[in-house]
Amino acid sequence: MTKVLVLAEAKNGKLRNVSFEVLTVAGCIASDGEITACVFGSDAEKYSEEIAKYGAQKVYVVNNKELNEYTPDGYKQALLKVIDEVQPQVVLTGHTSIGKDVFPRVAARLNAGLISDCTDVQTGKGIVFTRPIYSGKAFQKKKITEGLVMATIRPNNIEAVENEVAGETIKLPVEIKDLRTVVKEVVKKAAAKVDLSEAKVIVSGGRGVKSSKGFIPLQELADVLGGAVGASRAACDAEYCDYSLQIGQTGKVVTPDLYIACGISGAIQHLAGMSSSKVIVAINKDPEANIFHVADYGIVGDLFEVVPLLTKEFKKV
Ligand code: FAD
Repeated sequence: MTKVLVLAEAKNGKLRNVSFEVLTVAGCIASDGEITACVFGSDAEKYSEEIAKYGAQKVYVVNNKELNEYTPDGYKQALLKVIDEVQPQVVLTGHTSIGKDVFPRVAARLNAGLISDCTDVQTGKGIVFTRPIYSGKAFQKKKITEGLVMATIRPNNIEAVENEVAGETIKLPVEIKDLRTVVKEVVKKAAAKVDLSEAKVIVSGGRGVKSSKGFIPLQELADVLGGAVGASRAACDAEYCDYSLQIGQTGKVVTPDLYIACGISGAIQHLAGMSSSKVIVAINKDPEANIFHVADYGIVGDLFEVVPLLTKEFKKV
């Protein structure tokens, strides 16, 4: 009977999709065991019903106002307290900026094993996690043989499946103290219509887009497809777009249903962030471009002609 704890994450007043995906993974691991979730922040309680829809029998809410914005110390203290209370064998969260930051801190404190950026999990002889290595060129299977198991799950990779249970909400008082960082103000950029890391469709631009104006047709295509715009590092370095759009080894790792790469050569560091997309379309005027090696569909041509044509055609659908 495995006891699994999930750290759920909310953003802009909504639970992130990846939390439902992680709860689905928890369901596979726990089987007939127990799934508990926790969620932090002064309005955390409002999420518990939705969390229970994905199988959490107990939802711990830690509603301290110090947890309204992420801080490493605050989240670490709250998560340690929940783990102490629940005594799980497995703790999971999304491979998001918060998951990537807080899980190693908690794992180090508890001397627990941590497997990050998992794309699959199998149970049977222990819990075996699959994760990409060598910038996505290979996959390794890993398992933790003793002690607490911690893992982060790559967003958009596992289909979230509803499994409604009568979830119990438990308010857990936690004394958050000695914070070394305090968030005083959050200055938000003009928010993208669709969150890049959870987008089902991404239209991404590289150096071939040539200017920030060159991103306008990409945004138009993304809008028609209900997707988000991404970029290569070269496009960000050239200030055509913001670094928050960067996809790749040192940017975001994405797994959309459809990735349209426009004017991107396909450097290994870029592929590391998008090669596990379900369908890849590449538009490049160089027929020898490396991106065509990973693309399911390749269009050799000028993106400034091809992208508006695609937008026009998709508008008809
Ligand atoms: P280029 O390689 O210059 O390719 C531009 C492409 O546009 C060419 O293939 C060209 O044929 C095509 N093109 C030009 N005009 C048109 C047109 N009108 N229509 C159609 N096609 C056109 N890169 C990332 O993307 N993400 C990362 O996270 C990342 N991390 C890195 C980390 C490290 C440590 C290092 C060393 C590098 C990293 N890079 C990363 C950079 C990476 O190596 C490449 O330099 C970068 O990905 C190249 O971006 P690009 O494909 O847009 O540009």
